[in-house]
Amino acid sequence: MSKIVIAGAGIGGLVLAKELEEKGHEVVILEKNTLAALSFDWYDDVECGIVPEFNIDLTKIKHYPKQDWAFLFPEVDEIIGLTIPDEKKDISIHRRDLSAWLIGELKEAEIQYGNAVKSVICKDGKVVGVKTNKGDIYGDLIVDCCGVDSVVRSNLPDEFGVLQKIKDEDVFNVYRGFYKKTDAKKEEFTNKAYLRHLGRPGISWALDKGDHVDILIGNAGKLTKSELNVSLEHLKEVNAVLSNELLSSAVCRIPVRRPLEKMFANGYVALGDSACMTIPMLGSGIASSMRAGRILAKVIEESDGIYTEEKLYPYQERVNKLFGASHAAIDVLKCWLLTESASVLGFFVNKQIVAKEDMQAAAEGGVVKMGFGQIVKRAMRGLSNISALLRLAKTLSKQGKAQKLWSNPPVSYDVNKFRKWKEKAEKIFQK
Ligand SMILES: Cc1cc2nc3c(=O)[nH]c(=O)nc-3n(C[C@H](O)[C@H](O)[C@H](O)COP(=O)(O)OP(=O)(O)OC[C@H]3O[C@@H](n4cnc5c(N)ncnc54)[C@H](O)[C@@H]3O)c2cc1C
Repeated sequence: MSKIVIAGAGIGGLVLAKELEEKGHEVVILEKNTLAALSFDWYDDVECGIVPEFNIDLTKIKHYPKQDWAFLFPEVDEIIGLTIPDEKKDISIHRRDLSAWLIGELKEAEIQYGNAVKSVICKDGKVVGVKTNKGDIYGDLIVDCCGVDSVVRSNLPDEFGVLQKIKDEDVFNVYRGFYKKTDAKKEEFTNKAYLRHLGRPGISWALDKGDHVDILIGNAGKLTKSELNVSLEHLKEVNAVLSNELLSSAVCRIPVRRPLEKMFANGYVALGDSACMTIPMLGSGIASSMRAGRILAKVIEESDGIYTEEKLYPYQERVNKLFGASHAAIDVLKCWLLTESASVLGFFVNKQIVAKEDMQAAAEGGVVKMGFGQIVKRAMRGLSNISALLRLAKTLSKQGKAQKLWSNPPVSYDVNKFRKWKEKAEKIFQK
């Protein structure tokens, strides 16, 4: 049996810990926060499928069905309201309750709270441990669950080929604030998402939660103080339910790119936000990190205690196939959404070249698909802006290419074959 060190008590790491302890492995989780400060005191939207998939006991976790979204675009007057069928609706789940439930499920794993990982220890081309504020800790495998700015990943030697720093534009810098409600009456649309809000490379939302208003303002890349203030003031102007009275707030960073092209090295794997497993358009990563945790547990089981690149590679391959391919396709679309001007996006929505069903697919975390006939029909409506139309056509074709490549990584590990696959995968996103 192996000693597995999980750096960061993230959701994916907790799922992994449970599966590993059941197989008799020694699991040590290093978490920089105290138990009381762990996770977030708010609700997040999660695919409802994870409840039966992970036998989540909802009687112990506060939750409610997610409300339908309405989208607002710059230069588009109409508010586009979506109605997601009940069976496909996410649930809004209390994040801290979910973490607490996962921790409560652990029987043997040791969690060291208040123990921050500082760096990584490597020997003979292999990760063998981590440096923490309480000393060095060694293990047979180090699982990096420290999030987008992981100090483990960022200190890996170059020759391991794992991306150390996530590019600024691939990180969503977010302000989330919870405000008291005014006594204005409930509006027709309660969950409003402002895409490219005020032309920024990001979004905002204003969610009427009944007893408070949940505000999010974020940019892919830097969010300046003045952008934040202007966006917040605008949300107040157009949402009568939003008061000036702040209840609580947080500033966070979420990866919004396809998963890492290489998420393993000898003695090392990245899991969850550290491996960029969020849906690039939505920033949702709870379901995928849980699923990746389960995949990793299976790969560890099959590794016979040998944690070389070759033995760990199936983790990358299975993650790519399960959701990496669709996330790569979504990332292509996200890049297009962020680089087109707000007026061109308005043109596409007004002319219904980008239609309600495309937004519905995106809101569900899926890939936007258009058949040839549909493309021709819609293109006819966009002839007055041929160059923008061509850019969209190119994006859709690139989307298909990304999905195909990510669905077909090398079947087994071969250094050269994998290097070539990785180079191709990276090239799709080079500007
Ligand atoms: C504002 C916001 C809204 C979001 N909304 C949603 C949503 O609606 N739906 C959804 O699915 N996802 C959402 N996400 C994303 C979601 O939080 C993550 O994708 C998901 O939790 C997976 O994260 P993780 O397991 O990698 O790590 P996390 O759950 O982020 O946990 C990482 C852990 O590592 C610890 N840590 C970090 N550095 C160190 C260190 N050096 N040493 C020791 N411990 C360390 C942290 O304290 C933390 O406990 C949101 C994120 C944010 C910030």
